[in-house]
Amino acid sequence: MDLTHSAEDEAFRRELKAWLRKHLPRRSRYVDGGDDFSYDDPRRVTAARAWQHTLYQAGYVAIGWPTEFGGRGASIVRQTILSEELIRNRAPSLIGGMGLQMVGPTLIRHGTPAQQQEHLPKILVADEIWCQGYSEPGSGSDLASLRTRAEIDGDFFIVNGQKVWTSAAQLADWMFCLVRTDPSAPKHKGISYILIDMKTPGITVRPLRQMTGEPGFSEVFFNDVRVPRTNLVGKLNEGWNVANSTLQFERNMLASTTRTQQRMNDLVALTQRRTKNGVKATRDPAVRQRMADVLIRTEAMKYHALKQLSDEIHGRPPGIGASINKLVTTELNHDICAVALEVLGSYGQLRRDAPHVEDKGSWPKDHMFTLGLVIGGGTSQIQKNIISERGLGLPKGS
Ligand SMILES: Cc1cc2nc3c(=O)[nH]c(=O)nc-3n(C[C@H](O)[C@H](O)[C@H](O)COP(=O)(O)OP(=O)(O)OC[C@H]3O[C@@H](n4cnc5c(N)ncnc54)[C@H](O)[C@@H]3O)c2cc1C
Repeated sequence: MDLTHSAEDEAFRRELKAWLRKHLPRRSRYVDGGDDFSYDDPRRVTAARAWQHTLYQAGYVAIGWPTEFGGRGASIVRQTILSEELIRNRAPSLIGGMGLQMVGPTLIRHGTPAQQQEHLPKILVADEIWCQGYSEPGSGSDLASLRTRAEIDGDFFIVNGQKVWTSAAQLADWMFCLVRTDPSAPKHKGISYILIDMKTPGITVRPLRQMTGEPGFSEVFFNDVRVPRTNLVGKLNEGWNVANSTLQFERNMLASTTRTQQRMNDLVALTQRRTKNGVKATRDPAVRQRMADVLIRTEAMKYHALKQLSDEIHGRPPGIGASINKLVTTELNHDICAVALEVLGSYGQLRRDAPHVEDKGSWPKDHMFTLGLVIGGGTSQIQKNIISERGLGLPKGS
């Protein structure tokens, strides 16, 4: 495998780094690199929208999208360089991430021209924030059992039911939503994929507080919500295929290996400046053993991600690569935080503004937040099922 980039790609990286040096917003309480959708303060929302706007003006948003939809048709290598540099420079994450990474590519593939024209330009500049209405009470891993129903009434769907764990619903303008449109069909067949304006009468959003203390997601209730039939994406009752392409994009989004490598570097730096049991933490045998474990897993993850990148460049099908990435990266993120908490001892309980806090209290917060990522977007157990059945050819579990 050749790990070097072309001269043109390296020039793109240099140009990007120079732009970031000039334009990266100063970090503050309202501008930070968090990606937990806990935009609990309107000033954070304003700052995040402004950042995405600036980045878009410079041509660094959705660069992989085709040019006719506002992207640059950039190669996967350029997209990887862009996300690497944004993460390495600790740029704030994009508030419109779910629009850019999930519903945007889905509309490009399955949407009508009218849907594309209405939504894609606003997604690019975060004028529309999106949320994902898939999970319901009792329908998470077994998503196809969902019960929120949409009945046809003239030119409208009438939606009734409930979604749960809907990230960013409390600030979203729109939801891409799975609804049951044919209750008599087998469960994967009677589902449709529709776009819902969150300001429609009959929608109630009730924020849920996460264990980090922040309201990252919500319950969403639908009571006779009228949705125009023109908001159907793909064909009626064939939403399962549309939903699966969005999920594929989500798995890639969650498995951000660069961020994990950066967190590993943060852990090394933390261990070098702390003491444990009266000696430098780097000399403590228990710490060294745990560090070696997460470091080896980080390296293995990095090379697996490079192999996946190489497969994509050469047009080889991704297979179960995205599931492996999701499983490995999310569990590793959580374990890296667990090692940091062990190194910190009692100091690991300190929150952001406490005296003597390390890294602004990000370790305990991330330890809790990253546990959610092990679950969201398909739990580790579900990824293991996919890997064993589709990758290793093992028989289906009961
Ligand atoms: C931080 C976070 C953000 C989220 N954001 C969103 C969002 O924006 N939109 C949205 O729609 N949903 C969202 N979710 C919901 C998420 O997709 C579900 O939590 C997830 O799919 C699991 O479903 P569940 O919670 O109902 O658990 P269940 O499906 O009830 O699973 C419970 C346990 O049983 C295990 N299990 C279930 N089935 C099997 C099986 N066949 N084999 C082996 N083990 C199994 C699971 O692994 C898990 O440990 C989010 C969740 C989290 C944690």
